[in-house]
Amino acid sequence: PATAELVASRVLDVPDFPQPGVVFKDLMPLFGDGEVFRQVIDGIIAYHGRDSFDVVAGIEARGFVLAAAIAYATGVGVVPVRKAGKLPRAAYAASYALEYGEATLEVHQDAFTAGHRVLVVDDVLATGGTAEATLGLVEQAGGTVAGFSVLLELAFLGGRDRLAPRPVHALLTV
Ligand code: 5GP
Repeated sequence: PATAELVASRVLDVPDFPQPGVVFKDLMPLFGDGEVFRQVIDGIIAYHGRDSFDVVAGIEARGFVLAAAIAYATGVGVVPVRKAGKLPRAAYAASYALEYGEATLEVHQDAFTAGHRVLVVDDVLATGGTAEATLGLVEQAGGTVAGFSVLLELAFLGGRDRLAPRPVHALLTV
């Protein structure tokens, strides 16, 4: 599909970041291209349908950018899923192993209206640990996961299998 080619044309491979042996997929060229950015945002909204979610949750930090654009375009609100220690009020926390290292994510306990349908977005799906923690947090906080989208899925790291049977929507899978 057209959006897959757009993503492919705006991703850079960065060897040995953030540590030796890791090839980091840098999507800053995509975020920096207004026409491509608009098309990928529209592509995510069209895939799910603009009436299929009540709120958008973005995973820190690149997910925030995507979530804000989707929210503005569809008239819903944004919930940030943040790294540990950033949220000012009572939060639920989930820890998980990363492709490199370990991390904890948090969401405010009152972030979601009960039963609200939550579209979760991030830039890249790698091992799936980040997404698994986030989807669990959304449900712990009373939301219902309406969908999960990423710009780029790194299939060889198995994130989709880890999240099964939850569906994963990726604009581009490599
Ligand atoms: P996972 O938990 O699936 O292993 O890693 C996904 C999370 O780490 C996402 O929040 C994503 O932003 C970040 N991440 C992991 N690898 C990459 C990568 O190669 N490129 C980018 N842009 N983000 C990555």
